[in-house]
Amino acid sequence: MSNIVAIVGRPNVGKSTLYNRLTESRKAIVDDFSGVTRDRHYGVAEWLNHNFTVIDTGGYVANSDDVFEVAIREQVDIAIEEASVILFVVDVTTGITDLDDEIATRLRKSKKPVFVVVNKLDNNSQVADAMVFYSLGLGEIYSISSMTGSGTGELLDEVVKHF
Ligand code: GDP
Ligand code: MG
Repeated sequence: MSNIVAIVGRPNVGKSTLYNRLTESRKAIVDDFSGVTRDRHYGVAEWLNHNFTVIDTGGYVANSDDVFEVAIREQVDIAIEEASVILFVVDVTTGITDLDDEIATRLRKSKKPVFVVVNKLDNNSQVADAMVFYSLGLGEIYSISSMTGSGTGELLDEVVKHF
């Protein structure tokens, strides 16, 4: 498998919802609660005649904040190693959190293409709120709503250029 797209980010930003939309599978578990063990999920996707594998890096065991953050760091490091492209999902409704900053620092050091995906942009009134994510220092931002699918086509147009 050569084209691998890894979805990373802190909990509840919408990684699994995006994964489901890209792979149109129901295998990734989407739920509203933290504290459960979730595995990494691999699915296949296609865009503009490119086939690729999508990894939902949702797997973690959340017993305490520390364990939680260590697990997320591990997922990010694995993604940096094995992915061709990394989708770093953030949440427009919360803005940048400390954990977002920490993940961004790790990703800035990687040599892989990173796309900042600003999720939960369900309506146009939130466009201005998305601008803050430029300060993560990872370049262009891609505003999407994983729920409605809005913006995902524009994102994938750019992602497949890296295959
Ligand atoms: P994960 O923990 O990063 O995998 O996040 P999930 O995919 O489980 O989503 C967390 C919550 O955010 C769920 O309640 C989703 O329904 C919600 N969510 C995901 N994408 C969107 C979106 O585009 N808009 C809105 N309003 N909610 C979303
Ligand atoms: Mg998830």
